[in-house]
Amino acid sequence: MSSVCVRKISDYEPIVGRDEIKTIVSLAERVKGAKIIHVNSTAYGGGVAEILKSLIPLARSVGLDARWQVLQGSKEFFFTTKSIHNALQGDNSIELTSEMRDVYLKVNELNAKTLDLDGDVVMIHDPQPLPLIDYRRDGKWVWRCHIDTSQPNKHVWGFIKPFVEKYDALVFSREAYIPNDIRGIKVFVRFPSIDPLSDKNKPLHQTEILKILERFDVNPDKPIIGQVARFDPWKNPLGVIDTYRKVKEKISEVQLVLIGSFAHDDPEGLEWYKKTVRYAENLKDVYILTNMDGVCDVEVNGFQRAFTVALQLSIREGFGLTVSEALWKGVPVVATRVGGIPLQVIDGVTGFLINTVEEAAEKVVLLVKRGWLARELGRNGVEHVKRNFLVTKDLKDYLRLHIELVGK
Ligand code: UDP
Repeated sequence: MSSVCVRKISDYEPIVGRDEIKTIVSLAERVKGAKIIHVNSTAYGGGVAEILKSLIPLARSVGLDARWQVLQGSKEFFFTTKSIHNALQGDNSIELTSEMRDVYLKVNELNAKTLDLDGDVVMIHDPQPLPLIDYRRDGKWVWRCHIDTSQPNKHVWGFIKPFVEKYDALVFSREAYIPNDIRGIKVFVRFPSIDPLSDKNKPLHQTEILKILERFDVNPDKPIIGQVARFDPWKNPLGVIDTYRKVKEKISEVQLVLIGSFAHDDPEGLEWYKKTVRYAENLKDVYILTNMDGVCDVEVNGFQRAFTVALQLSIREGFGLTVSEALWKGVPVVATRVGGIPLQVIDGVTGFLINTVEEAAEKVVLLVKRGWLARELGRNGVEHVKRNFLVTKDLKDYLRLHIELVGK
């Protein structure tokens, strides 16, 4: 089982209020003791690991026997599953060779022998552990798909779909992601969430924020714009640099902070990190930082709090938890209109949605210049996240799902 932090549902009462906590506790009564197994493919990096780290201890604190199992795989396996991931998000250039299919199936077969899959509910996250369904013994099985599968590569979807069809229920982050040829299975739409008490999101004192900026030589007295995202083509780090170039022409003291981690299940990370560094080579005031430089959860938190404007210029996105993370810190977000981003960035209310680098730069300049507007959007962002994207809401949604499948 992967390691998780200690949390109690009552810790969240000051944030979400007593009534919300009462509702969660009474829903949990109806599935008390149920063994809920979550399976994903990395304990670190990316949104799913981030959610499970908080959700599982919270579910345990309300009486569920929630557990977290992490699939183990080889380099070839993760290369294959990244290709599947990209194909399901619409990359039509990808073809799976028979070797790739074999390694995908073989690794799942091996994991089926070592993982504990005997749950009342088994929640399988994303495509990596999807074929484990072939080794189900009992319980209800749910595929929780976190990516945008609205226009999948047909060839790869044809290979994946027979596994999907064996599940008892499916969960997607948006209605639009549900592939249109799915029939006869319960389908739910649920938002992912952030944890307001995690190191990534907890309140930080200004001296802590200053120390973090100092450690990385970032000037706290000049505007900072930034994007937090894995180094990945879909996250568009080069587009962020192009935007920065344009902003810099108008506001010469602006700084750019790009933060990206290397997830254990993402083999493309290093290559894209190098590409990003090269692309920014001759630019001043650009900081490209990773977990290898010591930028972990608290540092990400500090940087996000110091951002004047956060960017999320993804080309494709499942949900984009980093958007909620920035909004929760009262920072307006300028972002592309993709995936789950428009659920979080309400144009002109919590940030701005843009279509081009030019538009992105224009909105960033506006927000840097008009502090009052940035503050207004930031305040709206906090309220929006509080209502929709906190882990307590996520837990409530999961409890309802468990009740529907195995509840009293
Ligand atoms: N993240 C991080 N450090 C980084 C880059 C990302 O901790 O350098 C975290 C980020 O804060 C967020 C998660 O990884 O919690 C990324 O989730 P998101 O849904 O935005 O994207 P995904 O990586 O799952 O596509």
